[in-house]
Amino acid sequence: MSAQIIDGKALAAAVKQEAAAEVAALKAQGVAPCLAVILVGEDPASQVYVRGKINDCAECGILSRSIRLPATATQAELLAQVAALAADDTVHGILVQLPLPAQIDERAVIDAIPPQKDVDGFSPVNVGRLQAGEPCFQPCTPAGCIRMIESTGTNIAGKHAVVIGRSNIVGKPAAMLLLAQNATVTVCHSKTQNLAQLCAGADILVAAVGRAGFVTGDMVKPGAVVIDVGINRGADGKLHGDVDFAAAAQKAGWITPVPGGVGPMTRAMLMHNTVLAARRAAGL
Ligand code: NDP
Repeated sequence: MSAQIIDGKALAAAVKQEAAAEVAALKAQGVAPCLAVILVGEDPASQVYVRGKINDCAECGILSRSIRLPATATQAELLAQVAALAADDTVHGILVQLPLPAQIDERAVIDAIPPQKDVDGFSPVNVGRLQAGEPCFQPCTPAGCIRMIESTGTNIAGKHAVVIGRSNIVGKPAAMLLLAQNATVTVCHSKTQNLAQLCAGADILVAAVGRAGFVTGDMVKPGAVVIDVGINRGADGKLHGDVDFAAAAQKAGWITPVPGGVGPMTRAMLMHNTVLAARRAAGL
């Protein structure tokens, strides 16, 4: 293996430490950052994610509220919860854990979160501000990817970045953030022709496909920075990325592991955004 590993756990610990220091400074000024997390239903993976977020809050000194609704909750009930949190000045960030049960319109719920409390960065105002290059809450996963790339010392400006995936939560915002850093960005998706060839020309390759081992060694440019967003549970019960790690690591300059890469950074960036929301709400 020639690639250096981008250690998501270590970077995430540093981001959380920064957040904790900011929380302490805010508390000294009478502001206690608080994140509210709403979970609808009993999805086991969502329960694990929510528990993780609550633990992260505790670690950073951020107050948290965990609101549980049954899987049978109506859209009106969920919207009423969001409205109550929106009106509560002691709550700075509101996160509704996705996916939601089928009877609830996800878009309507995200739209109901006030932009200034939308720490996931999914509301239309934040999406628009990101696009326009204005101050906003950057979605946690792509924001974490950028931090990881920066941690390698790579100057993103002028580099050819290829993003595989165009979802609203990862692919598109990752492309926008890379463009904002002056990369030349190519976005690939399921209809892309010559995908392997495009990837092989990438100085920075971000894989957000949702298919284990999708990125093979021949798709990696020697020396490239490879960011593997994928989380795929294999038949072996283990988590696998979208990148064939062993093969890609022979060629890449830097690579993120799965687990221990983008996942921990995503969680840490949520803490960063919550502190930012509290600071902005206090006008500090
Ligand atoms: P989506 O399913 O929403 O998007 C997948 C994207 O990959 C789509 O744009 C799709 O193209 C594209 N794609 C699928 N198959 C192919 C193919 N054969 N060739 C080219 N492109 C293809 O997934 P998400 O963006 O939500 O997530 C992607 C992965 O990242 C998942 O494994 C998810 O679990 C993981 N994830 C990890 C997070 C973390 O914290 N580490 C956070 C969020 C997600 P098209 O648009 O044409 O359908």
